Amino acid sequence: MQTSCCSNDYDSQLLTVEEALTNIYHDLEHINGNEQLAIRDALDRVLAEDISSKINVPPHANSAMDGYAVKGSDLPSEGKTELIMIGTSFAGQPYLGTVQAGQCTRIFTGAVIPNGTDTIIMQENVDKQENIISIGTGNKTGQHVRPVGEDISIGQTILKIGKYLSPVDIGMLASLGIPEVKVKRRLRVSFFSTGDELRAVGETLEAGQIYDSNRYSLYGVLSRLGVDIIDMGVVLDKPEDVEQAFLAAADCSDVIVTSGGVSVGDADYVTDTLQRLGEVNFWKVAMKPGKPLTFGKLKGSAFFGLPGNPVSAIVTFYQFVQPALRYMMGQDIITPVRVPAKCLSTLKKSPGRMEFQRGIMATDEQGNLVVSSTGVQGSGILSSMSQANCFIVLSKEQGNVEAGNKVLIEPFAGLI
Ligand code: AMP
Ligand code: MG
Repeated sequence: MQTSCCSNDYDSQLLTVEEALTNIYHDLEHINGNEQLAIRDALDRVLAEDISSKINVPPHANSAMDGYAVKGSDLPSEGKTELIMIGTSFAGQPYLGTVQAGQCTRIFTGAVIPNGTDTIIMQENVDKQENIISIGTGNKTGQHVRPVGEDISIGQTILKIGKYLSPVDIGMLASLGIPEVKVKRRLRVSFFSTGDELRAVGETLEAGQIYDSNRYSLYGVLSRLGVDIIDMGVVLDKPEDVEQAFLAAADCSDVIVTSGGVSVGDADYVTDTLQRLGEVNFWKVAMKPGKPLTFGKLKGSAFFGLPGNPVSAIVTFYQFVQPALRYMMGQDIITPVRVPAKCLSTLKKSPGRMEFQRGIMATDEQGNLVVSSTGVQGSGILSSMSQANCFIVLSKEQGNVEAGNKVLIEPFAGLI
């Protein structure tokens, strides 16, 4: 096993965050196995087929307003024109006749544009007496008409393989009349915490014990990703227990996520055990928090050994495991969205490691994006992570940041 060195943050053995991600993607593949699901059940799943439309949406030209359907050629260039109302087109109940010059119909939003008409006059802009309406100038031929296929036309590909299906995507599929789609099967992810000091909520703490919080944060973030979750509990810092848990997890999952036991303390068995039973790819990354991180393979399952400190565990999950799981689920490689913001706090930072400090972003009175630090940034201080709504992402080379300087922020998605 490699050994840790150096209090020095510049360590040539450390991988950069980008290198670590590239290595991870290189070693992973999309999972095999599809299933056909009703569209509601396909929410949060990844499409395994391209979806193209067999219909136009909308399927017929229809009115965007309540008003009157008229012929553009009847619109007055000056003064007023009177038209006779010969019927009504309701949404779902079209007017079936043909409108001639000098005529119009009443029409409601979403109703089919009657034959012979091409223009809608808003009801507020006519004078009406009995079945005669009077229209002035200021209208244009074609106005307030939603054309056939305005949203989607026949044959158009609207959702591609690899699309993570959002609530709106489900609505889109329904708008095309598609009842079922082919999606990737769910990824099976098992996870457990390691540490003799950990107790589950509901138990009483003895001297030196703490509550296991990682398994709960991880449960939350995994739930948001739409994977099958297998919670394997807490495993003691005993090599035989760790080994047994690893083998059990590998049997039932595509991915194993553990927290704790990846540094080089005497009681840290995760990396050793993985090296014995599978392959370890790397284990130190130039990032803060989260320097010790194990990635490897265990009997065909991908393995992520996250650090035990609660903030480190969630930051490394977010930066590495989440994109990796999305990729395995069948999505494309995702580039994180990071945007500049004015930093309102002074930030302490030594060059040498990329940092993911916790921030609270907001807009100031001028509408500019600003960010404040959540304060103390220790990797055990989960409350600072819970107050945050974004990471302040500081490059490896960056030093201290003065208040008023620009920084890059990465808004949380799935963490709040
Ligand atoms: P380790 O990575 O095992 O050396 O743990 C680093 C620190 O994180 C120690 O202070 C542990 O007590 C703490 N820790 C480890 N696992 C958890 C967990 N599941 N929940 C809360 N704290 C933890
Ligand atoms: Mg430990």
